[in-house]
Amino acid sequence: MAQILAPSVQWQMRITKNSSYSRDASSMSSKMWSSLFLKQSKKLTARSSAKYRLLAVKSEHGTINRMEDLLNLDVTPYTDKIIAEYIWIGGTGLDVRSKSRTISKPVEHPSELPKWNYDGSSTGQAPGEDSEVIIYPQAIFKDPFRGGNNILVVCDAYTPAGEPIPTNKRHKAAQIFSDPKVVAEVPWFGIEQEYTLLQTDVKWPLGWPVGGYPGPQGPYYCAAGADKSFGRDISDAHYKACLYAGINISGTNGEVMPGQWEFQVGPSVGIEAGDHIWCARYLLERITEQAGVVLTLDPKPIEGDWNGAGCHTNYSTKSTREEGGFEVIKKAILNLSLRHKEHISAYGEGNERRLTGKHETASINTFSWGVANRGCSIRVGRDTEKEGKGYLEDRRPASNMDPYVVTALLAETTLLWEPTLEAEALAAQKLAMKV
Ligand code: ADP
Ligand code: MN
Ligand code: MN
Ligand code: MN
Repeated sequence: MAQILAPSVQWQMRITKNSSYSRDASSMSSKMWSSLFLKQSKKLTARSSAKYRLLAVKSEHGTINRMEDLLNLDVTPYTDKIIAEYIWIGGTGLDVRSKSRTISKPVEHPSELPKWNYDGSSTGQAPGEDSEVIIYPQAIFKDPFRGGNNILVVCDAYTPAGEPIPTNKRHKAAQIFSDPKVVAEVPWFGIEQEYTLLQTDVKWPLGWPVGGYPGPQGPYYCAAGADKSFGRDISDAHYKACLYAGINISGTNGEVMPGQWEFQVGPSVGIEAGDHIWCARYLLERITEQAGVVLTLDPKPIEGDWNGAGCHTNYSTKSTREEGGFEVIKKAILNLSLRHKEHISAYGEGNERRLTGKHETASINTFSWGVANRGCSIRVGRDTEKEGKGYLEDRRPASNMDPYVVTALLAETTLLWEPTLEAEALAAQKLAMKV
C-alpha cells in the first residue's frame, strides 16, 4: 500500500519530521497516526512549544478528513441535479479527456443528454481559428468516484457540420455493427487489456529498482508476495470501480513482466466492447492518478527479455458458437490470413517492437494459427476444438490498440468481406486447411 499511495506517504513523512515518534513512522497506518494525535493534543494543550506543532499537524489531518467528507457528500436529498463527466478521446487517439457539467435530473439513456463541445485546438484535434469540436453522448456508466446518481458519459466527436473527426473511430465501427449481416451474427468480443504501471518521477516500472532490473521473468505472473506483485491495490480498486460503473469486466491478473497487469472485458456485443474498454481505461487513468502512479499502454515498455503488453481480442459469432462452429472459425481464420497486413496496420502503434516471435507472440510479418498455441497470430482454445464450436483469440492487437477499430475490423473481415475464389484456394493450401 505504502508504495503506491505516494501522497499519504509524503504526508506521513512530513509529520515524522516534527514529531518524536519518527522511528517507526513508515510502519504506522494513518489510522494509528490519527488516534495518536487525538490523544496527544489533549495532553499537550498546556505546553505551548509542542502545542503549535501538533495543532498544525492535527489541522492538516483535519483538512484531509473534511475534504474527504465533502467528496463523499451525498447530495441526492438536496437536489435532483447530477454531475455528468463527459469523456472523449483526444488527438493522439489514445489520450482520454473529460470535463464535467450539471444535468437537471438523473438520466438513464445517453439520448437524454445534451451534445456538448470542447476546444479541439487544445487536444490537437482542430485549428485555433475554428476550434470547436462537438461531442455526442453515446454510452452511460455510473460514476464510482462521485457516487449517487452521477454518471460518466462516453462520447464521440464531430465537426460542427456533423462530420466525424479523424480520431472518431467509433462512428465507422457503429456503422459496421449496425449492418444487418453483422447484427444477425451477434458478434461477441472478450478483450484482454494489458497495461504497465510506472513510478511517476522516473517512468520506470512499479516495483523495479530505480536504475536497475528485477530478477528475470518467471515468478511474477499471477503471483502474490511483496517481492513479486507490484500494484495489486490499483488493479483491485479498478476492478471494483468497473463493476460499480456497470462495465462488463470479467477478470484481472498479474502479468509475466513485474509491474504489468491485465483486466478482461466481455463477452460484450458489438460496439459495447469498445465503449466498455474506453470507459475502463478512463477509470484506470483516474485511479492511477490518485495513487500517484503512471499508466502506460506502450506495447513494449521495456526493451529486452521482458514481455510486451497486448490486447488479445477473443471473438465469436452466432455461427461459431453453434454446432459446426469450428468450420466457421476456420473460414474466418482464412479471411484473416488474407488481410493480415490491413489488420496489423490497425492493431496499434509500435506493435513491431512487441510482435517479435518471442515472449508468447508471433512474428509481425507472418500469419499463423493453431490450437492452444500462444506463439500464433490466432489461437483456438482446446475447448473450442473439442466441442467443435466456440471462439478464436486474435493475439496480435497491442495494448494501445483502439477497440473500436479492432472489433469492427474483425467483424468486417469475417462477416462482410469476401476473398476471390482463387485467393481463398491459395490461402487454404498455405494454411493446410480444408474449407
Ligand atoms: P487467456 O486464456 O487468453 O488469458 P482470458 O481469460 O484472459 O484469456 O480472456 C478471455 C476473454 O474472452 C474473457 O473476457 C472472456 O469473457 C472472453 N470470452 C469467453 N468466451 C467468449 C466467446 N465465446 N466469444 C468472445 N469472447 C469470449
Ligand atoms: Mn488473459
Ligand atoms: Mn495476458
Ligand atoms: Mn489471451
